[in-house]
Amino acid sequence: MSDLTLFYQQIAEKKGASDLKKTATSNPEWGIYPDSLHDSEGTVLFMFRTGAEKKLVAAGNSGKIYNELTGVEKTQNDLKIKECELTVENSKVIRKYFEFTNPISLAEYKTTFGLGDRLGLASPGHLKLFKKYPSVRPVLAQQSIRELNLTGRDYGQVLADAVWAVFQEDYREGYGADGDHLKALDDIQMALDYGYTMITLDCSEHINNLSSEQTAEIEKIYQSLEGREQEKLEKQFLDKTFKLKTGLTLTFTPEALKFNVAIYQQAINFALKVYNQFIKPLQGKIDFEVSIDETATPTDPLSHFFVAEQLTTAGVKINSMAPRFCGEFQKAIDYIGDLKQFEVEYKEHTKIAEHFGYKLSVHSGSDKFAAFPVIGRESKGHVHVKTAGTNWLEAVKVIIAAEPSLYREMHEFAFKHQEEARKYYVVSADPKRVPDINKLSDKELARLMEEDDSRQIIHITYGLILLAKDQNGKYIFRDRIYECLRRNEELYNQFLEKHIGKHMELLGF
Ligand SMILES: [Zn+2]
Repeated sequence: MSDLTLFYQQIAEKKGASDLKKTATSNPEWGIYPDSLHDSEGTVLFMFRTGAEKKLVAAGNSGKIYNELTGVEKTQNDLKIKECELTVENSKVIRKYFEFTNPISLAEYKTTFGLGDRLGLASPGHLKLFKKYPSVRPVLAQQSIRELNLTGRDYGQVLADAVWAVFQEDYREGYGADGDHLKALDDIQMALDYGYTMITLDCSEHINNLSSEQTAEIEKIYQSLEGREQEKLEKQFLDKTFKLKTGLTLTFTPEALKFNVAIYQQAINFALKVYNQFIKPLQGKIDFEVSIDETATPTDPLSHFFVAEQLTTAGVKINSMAPRFCGEFQKAIDYIGDLKQFEVEYKEHTKIAEHFGYKLSVHSGSDKFAAFPVIGRESKGHVHVKTAGTNWLEAVKVIIAAEPSLYREMHEFAFKHQEEARKYYVVSADPKRVPDINKLSDKELARLMEEDDSRQIIHITYGLILLAKDQNGKYIFRDRIYECLRRNEELYNQFLEKHIGKHMELLGF
């Protein structure tokens, strides 16, 4: 434990907040986070770290917040001190007394960025970066159910980790919390109950993966609609030209209508149901994203319009929409495909999004550096970009630098079990192209995080690595990974600032 006696003395002497901050800054060996110094009705609060342990301290009186926090009490120089663990329960107390630590709707902000922090350790680094980009708002908590299962966390912990980061960095600009890629009604309710402010509805289970050549199948689905429903759709889409003020003209042939109905109508009805049941009653407090990106084929701009036109006509307030773009957005590596074609279609998708007044949501799968300049330029800053797993890879880089022997074990394990991970994630990585780790020096290991094949395999095996247990039921890697990253927080922050900073630069934010 670091000795904070001198600091406590100053608090007991009722030194002002700016004096305390100065003292904390000029004594970095105490491990106090200067920006975490806050005051609530005479109770001084701050966070500090020794080794791998991070805690919250409440000191100064036995006011309301002091009493509500759970921790170990002691008295020093007549000063009452409570040392608290960074638990979900304590984070709720912080949220109650410090409004800015609560997630909010980011609907009014043009540019938003989702940062899925799988380990719950990346947000301080992200916030240091976002302080330099005041026009962009971060979505700090952002996990799908799959990611929760693969990391062994729940929505309460994910949000609590974001709250602690916001408190530690004193980030007051506002942030979002996204229940990402939710498919089940129970999961949506759960995310809302935890206080999440964004719901990304994954409609993929209601989308038919048909090609336009499957005419018999398409006709069958179309004819299964009620007569009134058919009539309504034909009136809405046929025999007219949609001239969007944003500079796009769209028309539906009868075949195009039938095709889109066959693929998307169920998904549209599902989105409508979810909106009316869960989102609408919360009156603008929840940002609603409609995701149709997890499909076999790219979303044609006409289909994008078809979905949005029906939803908005039915009164759905869409905050963002995620189509599947052409080309491949594989995890952890750059864009694969025809960038010129991507640009053409991205422009059309942007015009549709602008017509309806929502943001295009780009589920980047991280690191689409070749496509980011197009996205930044065409969206003119009106966009939501999501990234997630890349924070895990930056964490792995820290492990390589600080504890290469741990990395070697993780690497061996990941390569042995990668087939399992490929059930969840489609990647083109070929393990045969990865150099033999036993022939690489510790210094050369960093190279593995620069090469596509090893990047992808380490990227998708995070869940297997984190949850792996030995015969005694003890985690093989999890605790050591957390310990290493906590001890090397500054290095992790540096890596994240640089790497996510590269995203921001190329997007032109
Ligand atoms: Zn997605």
